[in-house]
Amino acid sequence: MTAVSRSWLASFLSSWQSRELGRRVSLNESTLYKSKGAGIFGYGACVEVYVDAVEHAMGVSGLRCCTLIPIGQALNPQAFDSVRSSRAWCEQCFRDDIVSGARPYDRLLWTLRAITRCPEHRVALRTECPACGVAQHFHNRSGDPLLCWKCDSALIGLPSDLRPMPEPPLGERDLNELVEAIASGEQVVRDEAAFHTFQNALFSIVSPVAGIVAGVAKISGSARARGAVVKPSLGTMLRRAQAAGVTVLQILEDPEVAATAAGQLIFDSKAIAARAKIRRPSEIVEDVRNAMLAQLEEPRSVQIRRLAELANCCGVSEGYVRYHLPALVKRYQSHRVAASIFGTQSCLARCKTLLEDQRHIERYWSCGQTKRKLAKLLATDAECNVRVARLAIRRYLCMAKGSRRAGKADVVKSSSI
Ligand SMILES: [Zn+2]
Ligand SMILES: [Zn+2]
Repeated sequence: MTAVSRSWLASFLSSWQSRELGRRVSLNESTLYKSKGAGIFGYGACVEVYVDAVEHAMGVSGLRCCTLIPIGQALNPQAFDSVRSSRAWCEQCFRDDIVSGARPYDRLLWTLRAITRCPEHRVALRTECPACGVAQHFHNRSGDPLLCWKCDSALIGLPSDLRPMPEPPLGERDLNELVEAIASGEQVVRDEAAFHTFQNALFSIVSPVAGIVAGVAKISGSARARGAVVKPSLGTMLRRAQAAGVTVLQILEDPEVAATAAGQLIFDSKAIAARAKIRRPSEIVEDVRNAMLAQLEEPRSVQIRRLAELANCCGVSEGYVRYHLPALVKRYQSHRVAASIFGTQSCLARCKTLLEDQRHIERYWSCGQTKRKLAKLLATDAECNVRVARLAIRRYLCMAKGSRRAGKADVVKSSSI
């Protein structure tokens, strides 16, 4: 069987249908990808004409279940935020198709804008040709779905180029469920204005989530004034359903039942008795105490871990430790202060030795050396921080001045004698 491209098929079908029906039927592939059509898997008048023509020509029915037509009436006619305007695909799924001997095909889920990864393989969907980088607005003229429409290269890149995406995008499970419901062929949408009905039902039962849901992608003031029903995009549907804690499918199938189920996870935490709140097990205090005592066994000249760090390792907050072990915290902090003082003193002593060392005099006191540069140099040599080095220099200079003064006084004293 020779495959043909979709644009060829469209022109065959339109001329055949025009002859059959005795009136001009216009099918054009490019119209499918306009903002209102959004691809063969999308929804809208263009897609419906196309799918009808294919069903009629093949003598089959049920092809609508491979598109978004079953939920199209509930969606905003502007398909931009619902469906992609070009193809997206999982290379691993295509590989699996080839291995299993099935014909590779585009999945309905991939055409949804909110879906950015393959839920099965957990890799990012590819949206551009690996060879020429062009977005796939059309299918290849040979009809092969695995070839780029522009450069005829394979759309499956190297396995090493697959980008893993362990985290699911917002609403992945929701949309998966929706696509399964569409594919089952059951009637998904019973109320075209399902989200409008859902919103009104939330307000009428004074649901705590009514305001939150209304705040998601707010309807414009003029539309509200006109009382117009603004149908949401699939993206807005997802966000509203998430805000209400129900699924998109639940709202589409029965908005009123969904409204009563909405917001059941929201409750007033103040109403819960303090004793009912989750507490950490009491043994954890013992663990923290032992960890602190182990640290305190170090000599006081050795610095121990910060309290926040230790608390974090034990899985509690610093405040928790301070509250439960106040006396031990006092001892712990005094150890840290002592170790810190000891550290500073030994650094100062090292700096002093270096400054007084005749071998370093040239390096440290050469002309043009600013105090800042000197402090840096000294800090590196003494392996301490610049602040301590600066203090050491200040002390050294004070001492030098003092000894010079004392020297002068001695001279005066001796001369007066
Ligand atoms: Zn996949
Ligand atoms: Zn290409």
